[in-house]
Amino acid sequence: MKLKCVEESDSAILNAILISTQVAWAYSVGKPHYGMPDIQHPNIQTEGWIIDPSLVNVSAKPKNRFGSELAEFIQKGGLDSKRSFNLMGHIQRLSNIGRALSGERNLNALLETIVNEARDLTLADGGTLYILKDDLLHFKIVQNDSLSINMGGVTGADITFPPVEIKESNVSAYVAIKNISVNIPDVYNYKPFDFTGPKKFDAKTGYRTKSMLVVPLTNHEDVVIGVLQLLNARDVNDKKKVNPFSPDYESLVESLASQAAVAVSNASLINELKTAQQTLIGARDRAEDASRAKSNFLANMSHELRTPMNAIIGYSEMLLEDAEEEGLDEFQSDLDKIRSSGKHLLGLINEILDLSKIEAGKMEIFLESFDINELIKEVEATIHPLAENKSNKLIIDCPDNAGFMEADETRVRQMLHNLLSNACKFTEKGTVTLRVTRTTQEGEDWIIFDIIDTGMGIPKDYLKNIFLEFSQVDNSSTRKFGGTGLGLAISRRFCLMMGGDITVKSVEGAGSTFSIEMPVKVTPKATLRRRASDR
Ligand code: ADP
Repeated sequence: MKLKCVEESDSAILNAILISTQVAWAYSVGKPHYGMPDIQHPNIQTEGWIIDPSLVNVSAKPKNRFGSELAEFIQKGGLDSKRSFNLMGHIQRLSNIGRALSGERNLNALLETIVNEARDLTLADGGTLYILKDDLLHFKIVQNDSLSINMGGVTGADITFPPVEIKESNVSAYVAIKNISVNIPDVYNYKPFDFTGPKKFDAKTGYRTKSMLVVPLTNHEDVVIGVLQLLNARDVNDKKKVNPFSPDYESLVESLASQAAVAVSNASLINELKTAQQTLIGARDRAEDASRAKSNFLANMSHELRTPMNAIIGYSEMLLEDAEEEGLDEFQSDLDKIRSSGKHLLGLINEILDLSKIEAGKMEIFLESFDINELIKEVEATIHPLAENKSNKLIIDCPDNAGFMEADETRVRQMLHNLLSNACKFTEKGTVTLRVTRTTQEGEDWIIFDIIDTGMGIPKDYLKNIFLEFSQVDNSSTRKFGGTGLGLAISRRFCLMMGGDITVKSVEGAGSTFSIEMPVKVTPKATLRRRASDR
């Protein structure tokens, strides 16, 4: 057989060699369209090299029947001067397939494309794909001409095969174990593997396998993730006829398989990530629902508890006054206990109510203008007895003309009260200072309230959690100093809602400084901004 180059160039010579090899191969196996260009194939381009049929010696009668088939094929005009095998076309095709595969995120669609493309490239009668997982080859998809697209139980005919165990007697398992391709021209004359499966009439897919090309799917780390089988069926009219896969197609399918494996790994990874993300979103939604339900419950409960609590406090105060008027001294101390316990309980209920309102997003901030010096005087009056209780000196360091600020006065008072009563609670025979400073930051007036104590201080490890709800330095603190661990959390949330923040510095054994920094003029915009970012 001779071959003529129509165009002259270096790559042309290479192509000519490749084509001549294929022509020779086609002669030897006697199946032209597997070694030769498939001229019917829409994806094989015809530019480039041409095999000139006039130079193919078809008159010399080939000795074997395969040769005569080729001669017949050529004589019928199967191979003419305009039609050629185009290696570059295949490479181009592979790169297009690679692009298509890497863009496909849906795993089932991707597997379908892989089998389609592999069949298309090799003109195979059928294709089957398995994915390796937990030491089993899991069947994913089978296609042949007698079937439309058949995904494993997904679309089309519900065709599935049981998973294949990883043992060397099975050809696909062998390919997965060895990470090599196996190309078997005739399974009926091939001993190493157990072909009882393919040899039997396959009732599910409707054909008997004659030739098979089995290629591993290996990912970018050269790890086998699956196996692709390409199958040619036994010719019903000529059972002896072999229809093998050429070595050219073998390497073509190997290239496709490695691109496919990376795409499958990526798609599986994306699927796993999506599933994990869905699980997380579900868990987050459930947690948010539960948290909202809890906050609503707490808000309702604390509201319900407040009414009777106010009655208990009110009546105990009335009775105390009566007892004083009537001179019933023996009742006074008991009535005082009822009143102070009631007030303590009401304080706790109020804190829980505040927190649950904040968490449920129902806490409102009421902006008003108020005199800072007036506020500080009020706070000093309420804190003074607390400071004295533990023999602490209370220092108020505030300029006489601190001016006005626009914020929620009740909440600012509550924050100052909270931090100052903590300072008094955790300091003994020391000093508690409230320092008020006004500054300007980026053209905006800010006010800073520093609450400084010389008390027990806060351990370093605990400082990062100090603003979390229900957190206290140690559990024994509740019994020793009382409190719920809510005051700081609530104060900071209020401060954030007004566009400011609370920070802390502390040295264990030496004392703490809590600083409330907030704009002198809180704007509704800052309130909204904080509330949104808080969620
Ligand atoms: P409560 O005082 O009701 O327990 P807080 O949220 O106000 O709740 O405070 C949380 C914890 O932070 C306190 O229990 C205490 O352990 C610690 N803490 C707060 N302020 C101080 C302070 N000035 N000095 C030392 N520890 C403090």
